Amino acid sequence: MLDEVLTQHPEIEFVQLQINYFDWENDSVQAKQCYEVATKHKKPVIVMEPVKGGTLVNLSPEADKLMKDYNPDASIASWAIRYAASLDNVMMVLSGMTSLEQVEDNTTFMDDFRPIGAEEEKIIEEVTGILEKQITVDCTKCNYCLEYCPKHINIPKLFDLYNIEMFTKPTGFSAQGQYYRTYAKNEDVGTASDCIECGACVQKCPQHLAIPEYLKDVAKKFEIPMYGFR
Ligand code: SF4
Ligand code: SF4
Repeated sequence: MLDEVLTQHPEIEFVQLQINYFDWENDSVQAKQCYEVATKHKKPVIVMEPVKGGTLVNLSPEADKLMKDYNPDASIASWAIRYAASLDNVMMVLSGMTSLEQVEDNTTFMDDFRPIGAEEEKIIEEVTGILEKQITVDCTKCNYCLEYCPKHINIPKLFDLYNIEMFTKPTGFSAQGQYYRTYAKNEDVGTASDCIECGACVQKCPQHLAIPEYLKDVAKKFEIPMYGFR
């Protein structure tokens, strides 16, 4: 889609993308692919969500330790923001800040900017691995179940949103909730609560996931009345 838009509108001056180390390879966010498309069209990139709404600041003690052991003086946020800022075609990184302390931290390491080095990249990979292990539904996104659902529920996509939501600290705004609301507006797909528990997907799932049960959790998480579902 981005490729099509940029092809049809060469007047576009820049592209704003959600880029952070956890979403870089994520199938839903497609940060890497979008970055590569923008670069192919020679459009500079403005990064949003470099710390994924605070998720990449509130790491587990194990992940936190990896970063602190390597550089005790660097804030956890600085790793994520420097990761995004280290990409060649990034012209700006937007980061929401709620305290003067955060402003001072961000401006200090960006003023004296040092791109992420090879050793740091390895640590980021390890941290990403730790985050992935915190995943609630072990769906591998193989898509084998997709075509068998009579209700056209995009099962792997909904599990992906749910997994991210489950290890995101509540901040009052949920990017996943927003995505789910947009998804639910599409008449051609089913939402989690549309599941009729026929079990067709379960038979096809190589992970033997209790899909209908997990979908109940997904519905509980995202389909709250204030969201105004169809
Ligand atoms: S159990 Fe639910 S999700 Fe699975 S195929 Fe049937 S309707 Fe679709
Ligand atoms: S078949 Fe199972 S593992 Fe594969 S996408 Fe569907 S739920 Fe996920």
